[in-house]
Amino acid sequence: MIIKEILQKEYAVSVKEITEIDGDINYSNRKYLIQDIDNINYILQIYSDPDELALAKEEERIISSITPQLDFYLPETITNSHNNAFTPTGEGVFRLKRYLKGTFLSETENNPNLLSKLGKCAALLQRELSAQKSDKISARRLFWDIQYANFSFDKIKYISDPGLRKLVSYYMNLFRDNVLPELYKYRRSLIHGDLNCDNILIENNRITGIIDFGDMSESYLINEVAIASCYVMMKADNPFKDILSLVQGFHNTLPLKKEELKILPELICTRICISLCNSAEKKANKTATDYTMVSERDGWELLKLWIETNPLSFAQNLLDTCGFCSDEYKSDKAQALERRHNISSRSLSLSYKSPIYMEAALFQYMYDKHGNTYLDAYNNIPHVGHSHPRVSEAISRQQRKLNTNTRYLYDSMAAYSEKLLSYFPTRLNKVFYVNSGSAASDLAIRLARNYSKNKHLLVMEHGYHGNTSTGISISPYKFDGKGGSGLPENISKLSLPNMYNGKFDTPDAYVNEAIAEIKRLEINNISPAAFITEPISGCGGQVPLAPGYLNSLYSYLEGSSTLKISDEVQVGFGRLGSWFWGFEMHNVEPDIVILGKPMGNGHPVAAVVTTNDIADSFANGMEFFSSFGGNPVSCEAAMAVLETIEEEQLQKNAFEVGNYYLDNCKQLQLQYPIIGDVRGEGLFIGIEFTNPDGSPATAYADKIKNHLKEKFILTSTDGPFDNVLKSKPPLCFNKSNVDRVIRALDIFLKQK
Ligand code: PMP
Repeated sequence: MIIKEILQKEYAVSVKEITEIDGDINYSNRKYLIQDIDNINYILQIYSDPDELALAKEEERIISSITPQLDFYLPETITNSHNNAFTPTGEGVFRLKRYLKGTFLSETENNPNLLSKLGKCAALLQRELSAQKSDKISARRLFWDIQYANFSFDKIKYISDPGLRKLVSYYMNLFRDNVLPELYKYRRSLIHGDLNCDNILIENNRITGIIDFGDMSESYLINEVAIASCYVMMKADNPFKDILSLVQGFHNTLPLKKEELKILPELICTRICISLCNSAEKKANKTATDYTMVSERDGWELLKLWIETNPLSFAQNLLDTCGFCSDEYKSDKAQALERRHNISSRSLSLSYKSPIYMEAALFQYMYDKHGNTYLDAYNNIPHVGHSHPRVSEAISRQQRKLNTNTRYLYDSMAAYSEKLLSYFPTRLNKVFYVNSGSAASDLAIRLARNYSKNKHLLVMEHGYHGNTSTGISISPYKFDGKGGSGLPENISKLSLPNMYNGKFDTPDAYVNEAIAEIKRLEINNISPAAFITEPISGCGGQVPLAPGYLNSLYSYLEGSSTLKISDEVQVGFGRLGSWFWGFEMHNVEPDIVILGKPMGNGHPVAAVVTTNDIADSFANGMEFFSSFGGNPVSCEAAMAVLETIEEEQLQKNAFEVGNYYLDNCKQLQLQYPIIGDVRGEGLFIGIEFTNPDGSPATAYADKIKNHLKEKFILTSTDGPFDNVLKSKPPLCFNKSNVDRVIRALDIFLKQK
């Protein structure tokens, strides 16, 4: 009851009720809501830390000097009986403030008019603060201050969900690498530093007060706008639109510079991340209070929306709103096309009739230069998601340290190889590194030919294994296709065991045909060096090899000198959900495995995994050397991919989301007879379109692919008749992404 007595004695306030206000317990001052017997409210702050008291005195000085110039309320300190703002007591130093009446902005819906007024008031306040100086406040280093976002890096680890942690890591890295080094060029000033919606008072659609100057600091002026924006966006239904009113209101009163506006999105996002890191730390340390957790849910919602928003379009809207010309964001596609044709062969194709001019990508989203965001339902190279921070970090960390070749000893290759090989049957215990799936196929064939001393190869109809001379010679997709020169010497092509509309009705019939070919070769004294196939034929139109086919054929070849090669470039690394490798799906064990695409999430690393015997026989005196293969940077990238698959449980996600995807496609198939077949495993899916007369609906598949593009969804078509829609998205694809694809498909199917 000492507080009561002091308030009576020093302030002549007769207290009825005292309630402690839940603050950030990091601060050593305490805060109370006081109600007097006439039901008038006050805020009492009690300082016990001399540094905080010194800052509070500076705050008091500044507030009293700027208040007269403003037409809204700032916190008003009531002086004591000696006419002082601070009262030293045995309990600490007291400071009593009038409780400002009004509703908090957090309690109302956003409306453009009010947000514009908020922008204006923030600018008016900022104008006054810019004229103030305080060494003590300038010396402050608050982790909340966006310029010190690096203080929060250590807290990222407290975000327990790895799928959420990667979002914060990505944006914090972006701030550290792209924004922070440039910040020194921007305007500095004292700023309020915490214009959150609980610090803004409103009445009758007007801003009546701004409170809580406890986070005042010297920072970059634009950070004030970023902080206000961050909280308004968190409570908005339409954050990327609402924010424009606020920024415009600010800019009309205190003009922002073009360069400041350009980095505003990153700054807003960084502040959300700081807040999320803080909540995560508090949760982990069990010191979370309602106060500290208040922004958490809204923060995550906003961040998830953020990744779906093209950063160029947001920056462009901000510039347009403030009357700046933003032509640099308007790219000329025709010019880019011409430039490309000038320097490269037309044998390089572009997807879609009107190609997409890409700017950036993040996780399962891609952003073009015209402000659009695409859902990537197609790209299986960024396996763990585009621009995954763990992979980018691994690459840049190692690149700064050491990048060399396999003629030196270093740890990354051994460490990665051990981890990679732990995913294989023990017999497959040697790995060679190269830089593309093509180089891996090429090497696999060399290994097989060297081991067996034979030349002939068995390949699968429609198969594709690479762009080298050997790659083309073992790829019917190429040698049978446009510009191809037909079946080469030393190659036997086996029929694709396709149970939907293949040549035979049973897997056995395919096996028998293959065995007949092997026997025919035998009669001619030819023993194949290897049989190469994908477990699910990608270029054949996502066709899983008929159940039992591979098992029977492998059994037949067992004991012969024909090696079995599984090309896992498309399907490996957990994509199939139920299995980490495609050969496991067929319950077989190959002698050689080819790895590529997803292995480095886009970093060019590929490999051949094989047995001790095969690897040993290759060591015949001729050195195997690949300048880049197995270099430390590639190994670190590949390691980061495996770790991410594990940490984010992406194989499980591929299973769950993949099944959901397949089930939904099968539902569509029941409704629309043009869908002849839905097939695949996990996130490796094909939808085959077939006309009523049984012919391939090639033109229809093309239309649907282009329709999906218009709905900003990326897919592709493939198969011998190009009538199979392929979807093999990054493994972070989620069920709501699937819903979006299904909805778009449904709309198209309904129309036609
Ligand atoms: N094998 C398969 C099954 C492939 O799909 C590909 C590429 N599409 C390759 C090999 C060749 O890989 P890269 O393009 O990395 O040379």
